[in-house]
Amino acid sequence: MQYYSLNNNAPKVAFSEAVIKGLAPDRGLYFPEHIAPLPESFFSTIENLDNVEIAYQAIQQFVGDEIPEKELREILADVLSFDFPVVDIEDNIGTLELFHGPTMAFKDVGARFMARCLGYFNRNNQNHVTVLVATSGDTGGAVAKGFLGVKGVDVVILYPTGKVSDIQEKQLTTLGQNITALEVDGVFDDCQDMVKTAFLDSDITKYKQLTSANSINVARWLPQLFYFLFAYKQVKSKKKDIVFSVPSGNFGNICAGIVAKKLGMPVKHFVASTNINDTVVRYLQTSEYHPKPSKATISNAMDVGNPSNFIRIQRLFDNNISDLKNHFSAYSFTDEQTKIAMKEIFKIAKYVADPHGAVGYLGLKQQELSSNEYGIFLETAHPVKFLDVVEETLETNVVIPSQIKEVINKEKKSIVIKDYKTLKEYLLR
Ligand SMILES: *Cc1c(COP(=O)(O)O)cnc(C)c1O
Repeated sequence: MQYYSLNNNAPKVAFSEAVIKGLAPDRGLYFPEHIAPLPESFFSTIENLDNVEIAYQAIQQFVGDEIPEKELREILADVLSFDFPVVDIEDNIGTLELFHGPTMAFKDVGARFMARCLGYFNRNNQNHVTVLVATSGDTGGAVAKGFLGVKGVDVVILYPTGKVSDIQEKQLTTLGQNITALEVDGVFDDCQDMVKTAFLDSDITKYKQLTSANSINVARWLPQLFYFLFAYKQVKSKKKDIVFSVPSGNFGNICAGIVAKKLGMPVKHFVASTNINDTVVRYLQTSEYHPKPSKATISNAMDVGNPSNFIRIQRLFDNNISDLKNHFSAYSFTDEQTKIAMKEIFKIAKYVADPHGAVGYLGLKQQELSSNEYGIFLETAHPVKFLDVVEETLETNVVIPSQIKEVINKEKKSIVIKDYKTLKEYLLR
């Protein structure tokens, strides 16, 4: 499989190069040259396949022959070593829980898959890579844990001092080994700016192959399509039309869902549910794409003003906005609405949803499902990750799971970074 740049001004590359580079030299996102549908028999017999088999069938064409079947299956078995249950909430609504991984964020699957691909590409020590990533919270933990101990990969995580939750900070500062946390005296945008500057700084890139570990990277983006297949497998017997509502920030997850549809998965509609960072919602209303600086909300993993994967979604619909609108809606919700939804879900189903999942639930309500439809909202993080707002809103205690207990008492290790110069010195040390 070849990947081309969506800016159309860079050579096509193989999967390995797309993963190692992250972004094309013309700053465009990589996109697969073809997406071949899977045979109909795959979907008609999916309930007989285990998750690793489903994932292998789905991802094989995107990896091509660069990772042999045996190794690819081993990677997938390792990456998918936990459950992805669909839990009923109401008659025609369920939630797909994506938080059973090691850091309780849905980003675990993509981060682990990307890490293991890079590990494979570096098996002969030829492709040493430094992953440089800015985080506002959840990405850092998932990337740190996913890349821990991977041969030939160093991970440098920048996070804003005092702006991530205590649990999130522990998750990214307590691992050691090949993971370094740099604490930036500033906000997330300062971290993001430093990372962008480093990628363009030839003093650094002459010596180091830098790559990113956000959903721009095809190895983090594409494996997310497994979630939708796993959900389909579980609800297929309901014989209803499926509507997915995906809490969206950079729109990588929902975009992967649309790839699953391209592979032939029966799905009626996609709803992108966002907080007040509503760039895509406004685009669907006005046909004009005007990104805005992000605003802080209680669903902070979705505080994104210019979603990087929306361009991939447009490409999946051949840049045809009316076709897009036939299969895709987007709605935005305030923090107030989100809290009310959390309370409603708790009352109806005794289910503790985190703010991101609650935004997804609101998207399904807005979509007004018919009795022949089954709506699935994705629960993208465990409520414990947003402990304060969940406990305060629901007036209940959240039980701390073992994955989180494990890190709470570990010692934090970070390096304080004042400005870009200090980051550069660190990278060139
Ligand atoms: C990253 C994240 C999202 C947004 O996912 P995108 O793929 O960026 O749209 C939603 N919820 C949680 C909890 C996240 O960490």
